[in-house]
Amino acid sequence: MPVKQTYIGRFAPSPTGPLHLGSLYTALAGFLQARSQQGQWLLRIDDLDTPRNIKGAADTILKTLEIFGLHWDGNVYYQSHKREEYEAILNELKNNERVYPCTCSRKELSHLPAKQALPDIYPGICRDKQAPAGAPHALRVKTDHCIISFQDDLQGLISANLAERHGDFILKRKDRIIAYQLAVVIDDHRQNITHVVRGSDLLDSTPKQIFLQQQLEWPAPGYMHVPILVDRQGYKLSKQTFAQAVDLKTPHQVIFQLLSLLKQKPPAELQQAPAAELLGWAQNHWNPAPLKNLRAISP
Ligand code: GLU
Ligand code: ZN
Repeated sequence: MPVKQTYIGRFAPSPTGPLHLGSLYTALAGFLQARSQQGQWLLRIDDLDTPRNIKGAADTILKTLEIFGLHWDGNVYYQSHKREEYEAILNELKNNERVYPCTCSRKELSHLPAKQALPDIYPGICRDKQAPAGAPHALRVKTDHCIISFQDDLQGLISANLAERHGDFILKRKDRIIAYQLAVVIDDHRQNITHVVRGSDLLDSTPKQIFLQQQLEWPAPGYMHVPILVDRQGYKLSKQTFAQAVDLKTPHQVIFQLLSLLKQKPPAELQQAPAAELLGWAQNHWNPAPLKNLRAISP
């Protein structure tokens, strides 16, 4: 019998509030992609950015997923329990002279000449400087002018020259918080994730993550960036745009709506079906192809 390649996917919400339609949309896409391949679907709580965490939000997210029938495999993985591991890997990169301290403040960076002041491009000011002992600093990774490319399962070939597009990016913030880019690479590796399904708003982060995987000599998972849900003005549904928490009283209606937004054409007879039955139908019929090249969808 041919051995089926194992599929391990994950959903990694940040506990900054309850799940809204946009976050549940991504969760459902990842769940269906994993389950349609008899794969595992893991749950990770991205709770490192403590100033943004909302008390109780992680538990609310778990409950919401349960109510919607999006059952994950294994134990929940909390980033906040892994701090020592992130530091150990960061030390490895330090020992290989891949990272350096940066004492620049946001204000200093915003005063750079126009050409250098493009948002999110760090021009390497501290690369060859010795940071004064004890000065508060971020840690940045040295990027280079190599092109990082990957074939996204929906968005096609994505390429970026990191040095030009982002410059040396932050792995540990000045407030001592491990940056998302580093944590996610370590977690995906530790959890043996083979496929990442997430929103297209993170497309810009993926080359950074692949670069870190290369530095650490870890294999890259496959990537599928699904469209994000946007409001009529084109803004991503998020807590910042006051997206409402999903209605927990009518999970089947929400799932039906989300399946339509995932362009799965659920049959009208299933409109009143329980969420579990809808999910069963969706697993058997899942086809992400209609989402190809779409970066955003408006409900
Ligand atoms: N925690 C991230 C977010 O909520 C997602 C991380 C990921 O999927 O890589 O946007
Ligand atoms: Zn600097």
